[in-house]
Amino acid sequence: MSAIRDSLTTSGPAGTEDLTARFTREFGSVPAGVWQAPGRVNLIGEHTDYNEGFVLPFAIDRTARVAVGTRTDSTVRLLSTYGDQGIVSMPLDSLRPGSAKGWTKYPLGVMWALRQRGIGVPGIDLLLDSNVPLGAGLSSSHAIECAVISALNDLTGAGLKAEEMVLATQQAENDFVGAPTGIMDQSASLRGSKGHAVFLDCRNQDVNLVPFETDPADLVMLVIDTKVSHSHADGGYASRRASCELGAEVLGVKALRDVQVGDLEEASGLLDEVTFRRVRHVVTENDRVLQTVELLGAQGPAAIGALLDASHVSMRDDFEISCPELDLAVEASRANGAIGARMTGGGFGGAAIALTPVSSEHKVRDAVVKAFAGAGFTAPDIFTVTPAAGAMRIA
Ligand code: ADP
Ligand code: MG
Repeated sequence: MSAIRDSLTTSGPAGTEDLTARFTREFGSVPAGVWQAPGRVNLIGEHTDYNEGFVLPFAIDRTARVAVGTRTDSTVRLLSTYGDQGIVSMPLDSLRPGSAKGWTKYPLGVMWALRQRGIGVPGIDLLLDSNVPLGAGLSSSHAIECAVISALNDLTGAGLKAEEMVLATQQAENDFVGAPTGIMDQSASLRGSKGHAVFLDCRNQDVNLVPFETDPADLVMLVIDTKVSHSHADGGYASRRASCELGAEVLGVKALRDVQVGDLEEASGLLDEVTFRRVRHVVTENDRVLQTVELLGAQGPAAIGALLDASHVSMRDDFEISCPELDLAVEASRANGAIGARMTGGGFGGAAIALTPVSSEHKVRDAVVKAFAGAGFTAPDIFTVTPAAGAMRIA
Protein backbone atom coordinates (compact mmCIF):
# COMPACT_ATOMS: atom_id res chain seq x y z
CA MET A 1 0.00 0.00 0.00
CA SER A 2 1.08 3.52 -0.66
CA ALA A 3 1.25 5.97 2.17
CA ILE A 4 0.32 9.60 1.98
CA ARG A 5 3.35 11.77 2.50
CA ASP A 6 3.34 14.80 4.73
CA SER A 7 4.06 18.06 3.05
CA LEU A 8 7.60 17.34 1.97
CA THR A 9 8.37 20.12 -0.42
CA THR A 10 11.65 21.52 0.73
CA SER A 11 12.23 25.13 1.53
CA GLY A 12 14.12 25.95 -1.62
CA PRO A 13 17.69 26.88 -2.22
CA ALA A 14 18.79 30.00 -0.56
CA GLY A 15 20.95 32.12 -2.82
CA THR A 16 24.55 31.07 -3.10
CA GLU A 17 25.57 33.83 -0.72
CA ASP A 18 23.10 32.70 1.90
CA LEU A 19 24.34 29.14 1.60
CA THR A 20 27.96 30.24 1.92
CA ALA A 21 27.11 32.44 4.89
CA ARG A 22 25.11 29.68 6.56
CA PHE A 23 27.97 27.24 5.98
CA THR A 24 30.39 29.63 7.64
CA ARG A 25 28.06 30.13 10.59
CA GLU A 26 27.50 26.40 11.05
CA PHE A 27 30.99 25.06 10.41
CA GLY A 28 33.17 28.04 11.30
CA SER A 29 35.05 28.10 7.99
CA VAL A 30 34.57 29.28 4.42
CA PRO A 31 33.50 26.55 1.93
CA ALA A 32 35.79 25.66 -0.96
CA GLY A 33 32.84 26.07 -3.34
CA VAL A 34 29.16 25.51 -4.06
CA TRP A 35 27.86 22.94 -6.55
CA GLN A 36 24.34 22.32 -7.76
CA ALA A 37 22.58 19.46 -9.51
CA PRO A 38 18.98 19.30 -10.70
CA GLY A 39 16.17 16.87 -10.18
CA ARG A 40 14.64 15.43 -13.30
CA VAL A 41 11.37 14.67 -15.00
CA ASN A 42 11.17 11.72 -17.31
CA LEU A 43 9.37 12.95 -20.40
CA ILE A 44 8.84 9.41 -21.67
CA GLY A 45 10.43 5.95 -21.39
CA GLU A 46 9.32 4.33 -18.14
CA HIS A 47 10.77 1.05 -16.88
CA THR A 48 12.77 0.81 -20.09
CA ASP A 49 16.08 1.62 -18.37
CA TYR A 50 16.75 -1.76 -16.81
CA ASN A 51 15.64 -3.41 -20.04
CA GLU A 52 18.65 -1.74 -21.71
CA GLY A 53 16.28 0.49 -23.66
CA PHE A 54 15.75 4.19 -24.24
CA VAL A 55 14.66 6.97 -21.91
CA LEU A 56 14.07 10.68 -22.46
CA PRO A 57 14.35 12.61 -19.19
CA PHE A 58 15.17 16.27 -18.76
CA ALA A 59 16.92 18.14 -15.97
CA ILE A 60 14.54 20.57 -14.25
CA ASP A 61 14.85 24.02 -12.74
CA ARG A 62 14.80 22.57 -9.24
CA THR A 63 18.18 21.84 -7.74
CA ALA A 64 20.07 20.52 -4.78
CA ARG A 65 22.98 22.75 -3.83
CA VAL A 66 25.90 21.77 -1.64
CA ALA A 67 28.47 24.06 -0.07
CA VAL A 68 31.54 21.92 0.65
CA GLY A 69 34.76 22.55 2.51
CA THR A 70 37.64 20.09 2.82
CA ARG A 71 39.03 19.23 6.25
CA THR A 72 42.50 18.25 7.35
CA ASP A 73 41.24 15.21 9.26
CA SER A 74 39.11 12.33 7.96
CA THR A 75 35.83 13.38 9.52
CA VAL A 76 32.67 14.04 7.53
CA ARG A 77 30.17 16.55 8.88
CA LEU A 78 26.84 16.91 7.12
CA LEU A 79 23.95 19.32 7.53
CA SER A 80 20.76 19.83 5.52
CA THR A 81 18.56 22.93 5.65
CA TYR A 82 15.62 20.51 5.46
CA GLY A 83 14.49 18.76 8.61
CA ASP A 84 15.96 19.24 12.06
CA GLN A 85 18.59 16.57 12.40
CA GLY A 86 21.41 18.99 13.05
CA ILE A 87 24.97 18.21 12.04
CA VAL A 88 25.69 14.51 11.52
CA SER A 89 29.33 13.61 12.05
CA MET A 90 31.07 10.44 10.96
CA PRO A 91 34.67 9.20 10.53
CA LEU A 92 35.42 8.41 6.88
CA ASP A 93 37.00 5.09 7.79
CA SER A 94 33.78 3.72 9.23
CA LEU A 95 31.90 4.19 5.94
CA ARG A 96 30.34 0.96 4.77
CA PRO A 97 26.89 -0.09 3.56
CA GLY A 98 24.56 -0.02 6.54
CA SER A 99 26.64 2.51 8.45
CA ALA A 100 24.55 5.59 7.56
CA LYS A 101 20.99 6.61 8.31
CA GLY A 102 18.42 8.95 6.77
CA TRP A 103 19.42 11.52 4.22
CA THR A 104 23.15 11.20 5.01
CA LYS A 105 23.12 7.90 3.08
CA TYR A 106 23.15 9.88 -0.17
CA PRO A 107 26.29 12.01 0.31
CA LEU A 108 28.03 9.26 2.28
CA GLY A 109 27.12 6.69 -0.39
CA VAL A 110 28.83 8.82 -2.99
CA MET A 111 31.94 9.15 -0.83
CA TRP A 112 31.95 5.40 -0.29
CA ALA A 113 31.57 4.69 -4.02
CA LEU A 114 34.47 7.01 -4.82
CA ARG A 115 36.66 5.31 -2.22
CA GLN A 116 35.72 1.95 -3.76
CA ARG A 117 37.26 3.35 -6.95
CA GLY A 118 40.47 4.16 -5.14
CA ILE A 119 39.84 7.89 -5.12
CA GLY A 120 41.33 9.59 -2.06
CA VAL A 121 38.30 11.35 -0.63
CA PRO A 122 39.18 13.83 2.12
CA GLY A 123 37.17 14.66 5.22
CA ILE A 124 34.61 17.34 4.41
CA ASP A 125 32.04 19.67 5.87
CA LEU A 126 28.91 19.83 3.72
CA LEU A 127 25.75 21.94 3.84
CA LEU A 128 22.85 20.83 1.62
CA ASP A 129 19.93 22.95 0.50
CA SER A 130 17.43 21.62 -2.05
CA ASN A 131 14.12 22.65 -3.56
CA VAL A 132 13.54 19.34 -5.32
CA PRO A 133 10.44 17.88 -3.65
CA LEU A 134 11.27 14.67 -1.80
CA GLY A 135 9.82 11.35 -2.89
CA ALA A 136 7.71 12.94 -5.66
CA GLY A 137 9.38 11.04 -8.47
CA LEU A 138 11.63 13.98 -9.34
CA SER A 139 14.72 12.27 -7.98
CA SER A 140 15.63 14.48 -5.07
CA SER A 141 18.04 11.75 -4.02
CA HIS A 142 20.02 11.87 -7.26
CA ALA A 143 20.06 15.64 -7.16
CA ILE A 144 21.93 15.34 -3.86
CA GLU A 145 24.24 12.60 -5.11
CA CYS A 146 25.07 14.44 -8.33
CA ALA A 147 25.79 17.70 -6.52
CA VAL A 148 28.06 15.83 -4.11
CA ILE A 149 29.91 13.83 -6.76
CA SER A 150 30.43 16.98 -8.84
CA ALA A 151 31.91 18.68 -5.80
CA LEU A 152 34.18 15.76 -4.91
CA ASN A 153 35.26 15.24 -8.51
CA ASP A 154 36.45 18.84 -8.58
CA LEU A 155 37.90 18.94 -5.07
CA THR A 156 39.88 15.69 -5.42
CA GLY A 157 40.97 16.40 -9.01
CA ALA A 158 39.78 12.87 -9.84
CA GLY A 159 38.80 13.98 -13.35
CA LEU A 160 35.93 11.50 -13.65
CA LYS A 161 33.94 11.72 -16.86
CA ALA A 162 30.14 12.07 -16.65
CA GLU A 163 29.72 8.39 -17.59
CA GLU A 164 31.94 7.35 -14.66
CA MET A 165 30.10 9.61 -12.24
CA VAL A 166 26.84 8.06 -13.45
CA LEU A 167 28.10 4.58 -12.52
CA ALA A 168 29.53 5.73 -9.19
CA THR A 169 26.21 7.28 -8.14
CA GLN A 170 24.42 4.13 -9.28
CA GLN A 171 26.72 2.09 -7.06
CA ALA A 172 26.01 4.50 -4.19
CA GLU A 173 22.23 4.09 -4.62
CA ASN A 174 22.27 0.34 -5.23
CA ASP A 175 24.86 -0.86 -2.74
CA PHE A 176 25.02 1.86 -0.08
CA VAL A 177 21.49 3.31 0.02
CA GLY A 178 19.93 -0.01 -1.01
CA ALA A 179 17.68 1.37 -3.77
CA PRO A 180 17.61 -0.78 -6.94
CA THR A 181 17.77 2.15 -9.36
CA GLY A 182 19.29 2.43 -12.82
CA ILE A 183 21.25 5.15 -14.61
CA MET A 184 18.51 7.46 -15.90
CA ASP A 185 18.16 9.95 -13.06
CA GLN A 186 21.80 10.75 -12.59
CA SER A 187 22.39 10.85 -16.35
CA ALA A 188 19.75 13.57 -16.62
CA SER A 189 21.09 15.41 -13.60
CA LEU A 190 24.74 15.27 -14.70
CA ARG A 191 24.33 15.48 -18.47
CA GLY A 192 21.18 17.61 -18.87
CA SER A 193 21.23 20.88 -20.75
CA LYS A 194 18.96 23.92 -20.74
CA GLY A 195 16.26 23.67 -23.39
CA HIS A 196 16.96 19.99 -24.05
CA ALA A 197 15.84 16.52 -23.12
CA VAL A 198 18.46 13.81 -22.63
CA PHE A 199 17.94 10.95 -25.06
CA LEU A 200 19.79 8.15 -23.31
CA ASP A 201 20.51 4.68 -24.56
CA CYS A 202 20.67 2.66 -21.35
CA ARG A 203 22.61 -0.14 -23.03
CA ASN A 204 25.74 1.91 -23.63
CA GLN A 205 25.15 5.31 -21.97
CA ASP A 206 25.11 7.07 -25.35
CA VAL A 207 23.50 10.48 -24.94
CA ASN A 208 21.98 12.77 -27.53
CA LEU A 209 20.55 16.10 -26.45
CA VAL A 210 17.17 16.68 -28.09
CA PRO A 211 15.80 20.23 -28.29
CA PHE A 212 12.86 20.47 -25.91
CA GLU A 213 11.57 23.91 -25.06
CA THR A 214 8.03 24.51 -23.93
CA ASP A 215 8.00 28.34 -23.85
CA PRO A 216 8.34 29.00 -27.61
CA ALA A 217 5.47 26.56 -28.23
CA ASP A 218 3.26 28.40 -25.70
CA LEU A 219 3.20 25.29 -23.56
CA VAL A 220 3.96 24.63 -19.93
CA MET A 221 4.96 21.35 -18.37
CA LEU A 222 2.90 20.91 -15.24
CA VAL A 223 4.04 18.50 -12.58
CA ILE A 224 1.26 17.19 -10.38
CA ASP A 225 2.70 15.69 -7.22
CA THR A 226 0.00 13.38 -5.90
CA LYS A 227 1.69 13.20 -2.46
CA VAL A 228 1.33 9.44 -2.58
CA SER A 229 4.62 7.87 -1.56
CA HIS A 230 6.21 5.55 -4.00
CA SER A 231 8.28 2.90 -2.38
CA HIS A 232 10.62 0.43 -4.00
CA ALA A 233 10.33 -1.64 -0.88
CA ASP A 234 6.77 -2.85 -1.45
CA GLY A 235 7.91 -5.31 -4.08
CA GLY A 236 6.08 -3.79 -7.06
CA TYR A 237 9.26 -2.61 -8.70
CA ALA A 238 11.09 -5.89 -8.06
CA SER A 239 8.24 -7.96 -9.45
CA ARG A 240 8.09 -5.83 -12.63
CA ARG A 241 11.82 -6.32 -13.10
CA ALA A 242 11.41 -10.05 -12.60
CA SER A 243 8.64 -10.20 -15.24
CA CYS A 244 10.87 -8.38 -17.71
CA GLU A 245 13.76 -10.76 -17.05
CA LEU A 246 11.47 -13.73 -17.48
CA GLY A 247 10.10 -12.28 -20.72
CA ALA A 248 13.58 -11.73 -22.14
CA GLU A 249 14.63 -15.23 -21.17
CA VAL A 250 11.62 -16.92 -22.76
CA LEU A 251 11.98 -14.81 -25.91
CA GLY A 252 15.68 -15.64 -26.08
CA VAL A 253 17.03 -12.09 -26.04
CA LYS A 254 19.64 -10.43 -23.84
CA ALA A 255 17.15 -7.76 -22.79
CA LEU A 256 13.68 -6.59 -23.86
CA ARG A 257 15.39 -3.79 -25.76
CA ASP A 258 16.03 -6.43 -28.41
CA VAL A 259 12.32 -7.11 -28.98
CA GLN A 260 10.54 -4.98 -31.60
CA VAL A 261 6.87 -4.01 -31.79
CA GLY A 262 6.52 -6.34 -34.78
CA ASP A 263 7.68 -9.28 -32.63
CA LEU A 264 4.85 -8.89 -30.14
CA GLU A 265 2.31 -11.03 -31.90
CA GLU A 266 4.60 -14.01 -31.85
CA ALA A 267 5.59 -13.25 -28.25
CA SER A 268 1.97 -13.39 -27.13
CA GLY A 269 1.91 -17.09 -27.95
CA LEU A 270 5.05 -17.77 -25.93
CA LEU A 271 4.37 -15.86 -22.72
CA ASP A 272 1.74 -16.12 -20.00
CA GLU A 273 -0.85 -13.35 -20.10
CA VAL A 274 0.63 -11.14 -17.36
CA THR A 275 4.22 -11.46 -18.54
CA PHE A 276 3.10 -10.64 -22.07
CA ARG A 277 1.44 -7.42 -20.95
CA ARG A 278 4.58 -6.42 -18.99
CA VAL A 279 6.69 -7.12 -22.08
CA ARG A 280 4.28 -5.24 -24.33
CA HIS A 281 4.59 -2.15 -22.16
CA VAL A 282 8.38 -2.15 -22.35
CA VAL A 283 8.53 -2.84 -26.08
CA THR A 284 5.92 -0.24 -27.04
CA GLU A 285 7.34 2.29 -24.58
CA ASN A 286 10.78 1.96 -26.13
CA ASP A 287 9.19 2.62 -29.49
CA ARG A 288 7.34 5.65 -28.09
CA VAL A 289 10.65 7.13 -26.93
CA LEU A 290 12.05 6.84 -30.44
CA GLN A 291 8.90 8.38 -31.91
CA THR A 292 9.00 11.22 -29.38
CA VAL A 293 12.61 12.02 -30.27
CA GLU A 294 11.69 12.10 -33.93
CA LEU A 295 8.63 14.29 -33.43
CA LEU A 296 10.45 16.73 -31.17
CA GLY A 297 13.08 17.19 -33.84
CA ALA A 298 10.63 17.45 -36.74
CA GLN A 299 7.66 19.29 -35.22
CA GLY A 300 8.39 20.34 -31.64
CA PRO A 301 6.67 19.59 -28.33
CA ALA A 302 3.12 20.34 -29.50
CA ALA A 303 3.28 17.10 -31.51
CA ILE A 304 4.01 14.64 -28.69
CA GLY A 305 0.73 14.71 -26.73
CA ALA A 306 -0.67 11.46 -28.08
CA LEU A 307 2.54 9.62 -27.21
CA LEU A 308 2.37 10.84 -23.60
CA ASP A 309 -1.24 9.66 -23.39
CA ALA A 310 -0.39 6.27 -24.88
CA SER A 311 2.47 5.88 -22.41
CA HIS A 312 0.11 6.43 -19.50
CA VAL A 313 -2.44 3.93 -20.77
CA SER A 314 0.31 1.37 -21.22
CA MET A 315 1.55 1.87 -17.66
CA ARG A 316 -1.95 1.80 -16.26
CA ASP A 317 -3.22 -1.26 -18.09
CA ASP A 318 -0.23 -3.31 -19.20
CA PHE A 319 2.46 -2.58 -16.60
CA GLU A 320 -0.03 -1.82 -13.82
CA ILE A 321 2.08 0.70 -11.96
CA SER A 322 -0.35 3.61 -11.79
CA CYS A 323 -2.70 4.38 -8.91
CA PRO A 324 -6.10 6.15 -8.61
CA GLU A 325 -4.50 9.51 -7.81
CA LEU A 326 -2.20 9.39 -10.86
CA ASP A 327 -5.04 8.30 -13.14
CA LEU A 328 -7.23 11.11 -11.87
CA ALA A 329 -4.45 13.69 -12.33
CA VAL A 330 -4.02 12.53 -15.93
CA GLU A 331 -7.74 12.36 -16.72
CA ALA A 332 -8.58 15.74 -15.19
CA SER A 333 -5.64 17.37 -17.01
CA ARG A 334 -6.61 15.92 -20.36
CA ALA A 335 -10.30 16.78 -19.94
CA ASN A 336 -9.41 20.42 -19.27
CA GLY A 337 -7.00 21.24 -22.03
CA ALA A 338 -3.69 19.42 -21.51
CA ILE A 339 -2.47 18.09 -24.87
CA GLY A 340 -0.92 15.02 -23.28
CA ALA A 341 -0.41 13.65 -19.79
CA ARG A 342 1.15 10.67 -18.09
CA MET A 343 2.45 9.45 -14.77
CA THR A 344 6.20 9.84 -14.57
CA GLY A 345 8.78 8.00 -12.51
CA GLY A 346 8.68 4.49 -11.17
CA GLY A 347 4.97 4.51 -10.40
CA PHE A 348 2.72 3.51 -7.49
CA GLY A 349 2.49 7.19 -6.58
CA GLY A 350 4.69 10.20 -7.13
CA ALA A 351 3.96 12.68 -9.89
CA ALA A 352 2.16 13.01 -13.20
CA ILE A 353 3.13 15.44 -15.94
CA ALA A 354 0.68 17.35 -18.12
CA LEU A 355 1.88 19.18 -21.22
CA THR A 356 -0.49 22.11 -21.28
CA PRO A 357 -1.11 25.19 -23.44
CA VAL A 358 -0.29 28.32 -21.44
CA SER A 359 -3.88 29.45 -22.03
CA SER A 360 -5.24 26.35 -20.25
CA GLU A 361 -2.82 26.26 -17.33
CA HIS A 362 -5.17 27.74 -14.75
CA LYS A 363 -8.09 25.65 -15.89
CA VAL A 364 -6.06 22.45 -15.62
CA ARG A 365 -4.69 23.37 -12.20
CA ASP A 366 -8.17 24.19 -10.86
CA ALA A 367 -9.72 21.09 -12.35
CA VAL A 368 -7.08 18.78 -10.85
CA VAL A 369 -7.39 20.36 -7.41
CA LYS A 370 -11.19 20.08 -7.55
CA ALA A 371 -11.10 16.50 -8.81
CA PHE A 372 -8.76 15.48 -5.97
CA ALA A 373 -10.96 17.17 -3.38
CA GLY A 374 -14.04 15.52 -4.87
CA ALA A 375 -12.41 12.10 -4.67
CA GLY A 376 -11.32 12.65 -1.09
CA PHE A 377 -7.61 12.58 -2.01
CA THR A 378 -4.92 14.64 -0.32
CA ALA A 379 -4.49 17.98 -2.12
CA PRO A 380 -1.78 17.68 -4.78
CA ASP A 381 1.14 20.04 -5.28
CA ILE A 382 1.12 21.47 -8.80
CA PHE A 383 4.01 23.38 -10.30
CA THR A 384 5.71 24.00 -13.62
CA VAL A 385 9.16 22.83 -14.63
CA THR A 386 11.37 23.85 -17.50
CA PRO A 387 14.22 21.89 -19.08
CA ALA A 388 17.28 23.23 -17.29
CA ALA A 389 21.03 22.84 -17.07
CA GLY A 390 22.77 19.82 -15.58
CA ALA A 391 25.11 19.73 -12.59
CA MET A 392 27.66 22.51 -12.26
CA ARG A 393 29.82 24.48 -9.90
CA ILE A 394 28.18 27.78 -9.07
CA ALA A 395 30.61 29.38 -6.63
P1 ADP B 1 13.08 10.77 -4.84
O1 ADP B 1 14.51 10.60 -5.20
O2 ADP B 1 12.14 10.28 -5.87
O3 ADP B 1 12.76 12.17 -4.43
P2 ADP B 1 13.87 8.99 -2.75
O4 ADP B 1 13.10 8.22 -1.75
O5 ADP B 1 14.80 8.29 -3.63
O6 ADP B 1 12.81 9.85 -3.57
O7 ADP B 1 14.72 10.10 -2.02
C1 ADP B 1 14.12 10.92 -1.03
C2 ADP B 1 15.07 11.01 0.14
O8 ADP B 1 16.13 11.93 -0.19
C3 ADP B 1 14.44 11.61 1.36
O9 ADP B 1 13.80 10.63 2.15
C4 ADP B 1 15.64 12.17 2.08
O10 ADP B 1 16.34 11.17 2.80
C5 ADP B 1 16.53 12.62 0.95
N1 ADP B 1 16.42 14.06 0.68
C6 ADP B 1 15.96 14.66 -0.43
N2 ADP B 1 16.05 16.01 -0.33
C7 ADP B 1 16.59 16.26 0.88
C8 ADP B 1 16.95 17.45 1.61
N3 ADP B 1 16.76 18.67 1.10
N4 ADP B 1 17.51 17.30 2.82
C9 ADP B 1 17.69 16.07 3.35
N5 ADP B 1 17.38 14.95 2.74
C10 ADP B 1 16.84 15.02 1.53
MG1 MG C 1 15.41 8.74 -5.53
